[in-house]
Amino acid sequence: MAQYFRKGRRYSPAEIFALLLPVETGKRPAGTRELDGDPMYFTSLRYHVFKKDLCCASCGIQGQYFVKEANLTSERTRYHLNLYAVNEAGEEVLMTKDHILPRKRGGKDTLTNLETMCSPCNAAKGARTDIDRILQLPDSDLTNVSPRLLADLLDARTRHPINVTNHTTHLTVTRKEPA
Ligand SMILES: [Zn+2]
Repeated sequence: MAQYFRKGRRYSPAEIFALLLPVETGKRPAGTRELDGDPMYFTSLRYHVFKKDLCCASCGIQGQYFVKEANLTSERTRYHLNLYAVNEAGEEVLMTKDHILPRKRGGKDTLTNLETMCSPCNAAKGARTDIDRILQLPDSDLTNVSPRLLADLLDARTRHPINVTNHTTHLTVTRKEPA
């Protein structure tokens, strides 16, 4: 578990979402803004995922506030914002982003393939895949699913219209028009 140094006050989700810049990927995104004296990246896909839904896709607990934190092990202090929910015991619960189609099975870093999940649910989920959720993804998120998962999706095809491709095996499943 990473140790975080926390700085400053809590920020409401609305306050942070108003500052977001378009998503940028790569090591040195250009989109920084100052937040109470510290330069911060506001281009993170993670913030956009939280903006899409503040609640955990699994248990429904809702992210309540952001705090500015830095990883103690990093050499240079670069703050980022972490979103927290509060559970029934009054404890903070870190909110994370989860890949619906896991990365190791060909999932992409796209807003449609990511959802908000609290850290306990994310840890419990592990590498499990939810076929029904994956089948609801847009075609653009299903262009390189792993062969094993593709077999599961083929199996589920009888229940859902779907269009998935695996570039390695050149297998394609064509989306059927809903009856
Ligand atoms: Zn949860």
